[in-house]
Amino acid sequence: GRQATSNADILEYRKQHLGKSLSLQYKVPIKMVRGAGQYLMDQYGRKYLDTVNNVAHVGHEHPAVVRAGQEQMALINTNSRYLHENINELAKELLETLPPELSVLHFVNSGSEANELAIRMLKAATGDRDIIASEVGYHGNTNRCIDISSYKFDGKGGQGAPEHTHIFPLPDAFRGKFRGESTGGPYAEEVKGQIDRIHAKGRGVGGFIIEPIISCGGQIELPEGFLAKAYQYVKEAGGLCISDEVQVGCGRMGSTFWGFQLHGVIPDIVTIGKPLGNGHPLAAVACTQEVAEKFANGMEYFNTFGGNPVSCAIGAEVLRVVKREKLQAHALAVGTYLKQQLNKLSKDFPIIGDVRGQGLFLGIELVDEKMEPLAAQTDYLANRMKDHGILMSTDGPDHNVLKIKPPLVFSQENAEELIFYLGKILAEDFMKL
Ligand code: PMP
Repeated sequence: GRQATSNADILEYRKQHLGKSLSLQYKVPIKMVRGAGQYLMDQYGRKYLDTVNNVAHVGHEHPAVVRAGQEQMALINTNSRYLHENINELAKELLETLPPELSVLHFVNSGSEANELAIRMLKAATGDRDIIASEVGYHGNTNRCIDISSYKFDGKGGQGAPEHTHIFPLPDAFRGKFRGESTGGPYAEEVKGQIDRIHAKGRGVGGFIIEPIISCGGQIELPEGFLAKAYQYVKEAGGLCISDEVQVGCGRMGSTFWGFQLHGVIPDIVTIGKPLGNGHPLAAVACTQEVAEKFANGMEYFNTFGGNPVSCAIGAEVLRVVKREKLQAHALAVGTYLKQQLNKLSKDFPIIGDVRGQGLFLGIELVDEKMEPLAAQTDYLANRMKDHGILMSTDGPDHNVLKIKPPLVFSQENAEELIFYLGKILAEDFMKL
């Protein structure tokens, strides 16, 4: 067989020859060699419980998904200019989950590509290119996606908001500009303020993009009433609304299949990524007939890999597994239990300032008694959990939010284990970091 390479060699080669702006997980990086369900295994046979990976939506290397890809790969893989039933099958599976207004699909290969296409659609449909987005939002790695991602342009190496991007404050009811109950209205007025700003420059509103729970912002749940009001203002101004479901979509929310459905709104465009291919590069843009017709203005949209038979076989099987294994209902049951237990834990450990999220997309925010963020303590928790074989991630503008977004097969027992170790580590003496 192949000669095993040491981790030090792998690391050294990466340093020399792979892109230099990518960070690694953990101080001593891990080499993972197997995945199964909600578990990963490293080169030493050590098993980890994965609470991080919302890409492995129906479980790492789900056998039915692997088989669907393998079988199609052995038959034919071509671009979507040839007829093939797989692209239609995937479209049908997706449309079954979406409201009838969203009835046209474009298939692409990543969340970034999906949002990039959505941005082009805004321009084609409205003639306007000004976009309103949330503070600390992230929508992808392409030029135009970075241009609307405050998480990037307001962070290290960034140069602030471009002329056509209009950022409103992170609608965080815990530590944001407006706090507590009934902040949906005030945050929606901030969106209105940005619309007025665009008009004052003599321009029109292209649209508005937001995630239904803002992931990079620290698992920020949109305050009640916010999205409906913001959508209303944007639509009145002639703009279109994009729901970025790259992180939260495909049943993860538990009570709904899509995040926008939590808020009783219907977007003009929905972007879908990570979970759709269960790790295979597959993403999609759903839009209305009207948007699709305006986008088809004569310039062809061709995508070499988007919608190929292998990707579509995989995507269709992922959605069938979600149905067959009732993973949406499972996300609701396990997520609700986990959130309850985390709330209980917060009574014993007041540094847990907030527990939030829906289904299996949760966040725990750590603060001191003055509501100051505890970034070092959050990092400590994530690293100590790893010592116990549990992978967790941290995020938020102040790096003080532990995120929980596991493969949906994450079980009640996994939740109990997570709570047990979190409680054990929270009792350690780590406040003076
Ligand atoms: N939108 C959101 C909300 C994301 O979290 C991400 C990726 N983290 C993207 C878009 C971009 O997706 P991709 O990395 O697949 O290009």
